[in-house]
Amino acid sequence: MKIERLIVPDSVSQRVSFGRGNTKKYLTIHQTGNTSKGANALAHHKLQARSGVGYGWHWQVDDHEAIQTHSHDYKIWHAGDGKGSGNTESISIEICVNIDGDYKKSVENGAKIAALILKEENININKMVQHNHWTGKDCPHEIRMGKDGITWTVFVEMVKKYLNENEKQGDDEEVEDVTIRRVVLNDRAIDNLPNFCEDRNNVGNTVDYIGFVVTLTKKWKEYYYSKYLNGWIHESAFEDIIECNFKATVKNAGYSVDNLPWTKRENKWYKHITSSDELLGKEFTITARTQENGGYFYIHELAKWIDNRAFE
Ligand SMILES: [Zn+2]
Repeated sequence: MKIERLIVPDSVSQRVSFGRGNTKKYLTIHQTGNTSKGANALAHHKLQARSGVGYGWHWQVDDHEAIQTHSHDYKIWHAGDGKGSGNTESISIEICVNIDGDYKKSVENGAKIAALILKEENININKMVQHNHWTGKDCPHEIRMGKDGITWTVFVEMVKKYLNENEKQGDDEEVEDVTIRRVVLNDRAIDNLPNFCEDRNNVGNTVDYIGFVVTLTKKWKEYYYSKYLNGWIHESAFEDIIECNFKATVKNAGYSVDNLPWTKRENKWYKHITSSDELLGKEFTITARTQENGGYFYIHELAKWIDNRAFE
């Protein structure tokens, strides 16, 4: 289903509403009552965008698309209850019933867009009501009649199904498998889940690993997971390095061995560890460097940084 947000100018919304300030506590379901050929979502949107009919609705949906006309903020006149909760506290969807449309598909799409709005505006499904709830009008007429076996109860179940699907898809899409090596540069919390998860627990802090080059294997929004650090850390803890993998022997004395590349000496966690004098003749594996030529080498065995000139 295509979803389009063709929000009209404020002046148009003002004509068919009590203005902004909709509290968005409810979602109201309507059916257009217009079975004419071509009375689909786009036709209804155009009608609203053009001159309107003295009242309005936020969304219209048919067998292939859902179109939003008015911002949810507007207290659109759709419920017929004056300044009651229908008009001032609810968002409205009109499901099209045009004869040349696929009725079942239109209702399914109505359920899909209903689920999306409930989620987007954080409205509980038990606050999704029929237009009938506000004024007793026989609307949504076809659903109230149970046309094609789709009663209100069935429709509510459809919305619940889409709510669950959205949640599952959301989780799957958000967590991404990655393989990235980065250097720990800043002190940030390490949690068992990303910081935005309510049930997270703190398990450590990257301050104990400043200068370490670690492999990040999962990304979830702006958080990375590191098996070595045993948790999720905000991306601002890390900086890019250039990956490499070769062996080199320390040949020259007089170079400082530090927890970070010397170029990072302004970092408040920068620490001098030892001197290349202590490592002369030893062979190490270099797994990261700060630039393609020259620069600083990351000694994997020591998890420390040293000037490349110590190896020449
Ligand atoms: Zn209605």
